[in-house]
Amino acid sequence: MMPIERYRSLEQIQSALRKGECTMKEVVHAYLERINGTAHVNAYVRVFRDEALQQARELDTRLQNGESPGPLFGLVASIKDVICYAGHPVSAASGMLQDYISPFSATAVERLTGAGAIIIGMVNCDEFAMGSANENSWYGPTQNGLHTGYVPGGSSGASAVSVQLDTCLVSLGSDTGGSVRQPAAFCGVIGLKPSYGRISRHGLIAYASSFDQIGIIGKNIPDLYAVLQVISGPDEKDSTTTHHLLVGAGIPESIPIEGTRIASFSNAFHAGGVQAEIRDAFNDRLDTLDQAGYQVDHIEFPLLEYIVPTYYILTMAEASSNLSRYDGVRYGHRTKHAGDLEELYGRSRSEGFGTEVKRRIMLGTFVLSSGYYDAYFQTAQKVRRKIMDTIQTILDTHDFIALPTTPETAWKIGEKVEDPVSVYLSDIFTVLANLCGIPAISVPLGQDKNGLDFGIQLMSARDTEEKLLAMSKILIDIQ
Ligand code: GLN
Repeated sequence: MMPIERYRSLEQIQSALRKGECTMKEVVHAYLERINGTAHVNAYVRVFRDEALQQARELDTRLQNGESPGPLFGLVASIKDVICYAGHPVSAASGMLQDYISPFSATAVERLTGAGAIIIGMVNCDEFAMGSANENSWYGPTQNGLHTGYVPGGSSGASAVSVQLDTCLVSLGSDTGGSVRQPAAFCGVIGLKPSYGRISRHGLIAYASSFDQIGIIGKNIPDLYAVLQVISGPDEKDSTTTHHLLVGAGIPESIPIEGTRIASFSNAFHAGGVQAEIRDAFNDRLDTLDQAGYQVDHIEFPLLEYIVPTYYILTMAEASSNLSRYDGVRYGHRTKHAGDLEELYGRSRSEGFGTEVKRRIMLGTFVLSSGYYDAYFQTAQKVRRKIMDTIQTILDTHDFIALPTTPETAWKIGEKVEDPVSVYLSDIFTVLANLCGIPAISVPLGQDKNGLDFGIQLMSARDTEEKLLAMSKILIDIQ
């Protein structure tokens, strides 16, 4: 069998295919073998074996006939079970959507396949993308691919694992508060959350619409950029898509050392909370940048303690509203034990949703209820605005903000299920980018004494993904 891990990038696969060193059928076969061989991690909830092989054969024929194959030919991707793919089931890892088959494809999927990519399967995640460990799933938890018994992060945990274990080249996940970056950090791969509106949300099952964004997980920056270029851009089916196009001239080769300023938050480490190995590796990497001539400023971010509460109040409010559509009438699970309409709603939702989703619907409904709307929802909206303005001020004078991706490395499966608040608090460094709609990326930074991976995160101003990707390359190479 072909050793697929030998091909480390899209460029290598495309070159091998063009030179006839391998066929697409062999590439897909090799990935399918790896999916089979790693089934114990519970990453894939659906594998499109026959379809993917058929598409591979078609591509081989096109290449043999000298026909143009599309910019993403050779790319094999997995997609998170919250992204619609026409004619295929999509369930948001929820009992509520078992048996649901999507009649349409997400814009991102349409663009991906339209450019010649092959979708090999759909991967596990937290139910409706709510979680940080991939444990809140109808299909059971996904294991970290290299550390049995540990979580892979979440909610796009299995997306990260599918890339970590070379069962595909890239994966599409979704990132509402870190769900692409945090699992990427826990699995030693790269995760990009683009600016809000960069990629159409049409066909992405909604969690919190003013935060949600499709993100890309892969093993190198050029692969992420190749996918981003294809799937991003305005879409008439999502009015929040940005009209600021990518420059499209490629990722800048380098970022000028002179005049490039990077901010980090000195108070990020004050409260303790951050694992010493992560803190030290993070500071070392910034020192290296500083010594190379980049200007690194350690500044105070006074609103740090407000970002997690603000994020959770607002996302739970939006979730409670978004998830009201699952009523047992229009689609999704319908109870078999209802006497009247009221009971039909109540029982269908009680039976269909899992514990974490119910918790969030209840809290979200609470913060939106008439007696508490001003105290919680409206106040959180105001704080969000203040956080956005403060970050904008920092980005007016700095090109990038650097933070660790997570305060700690992966925990053991089951270790935190009884303590949701500690899991919420572990999102402290990632939710900021979603509150502000700015792009953010996590790249591997190091490993702790148990060999568990952690990452460093970089953020930049809205719609500056190319600059962000260029700096990320430097961040990886400079170590
Ligand atoms: N862990 C965060 C949450 O549970 C982020 C999830 C996400 O980005 N989808 O809300």
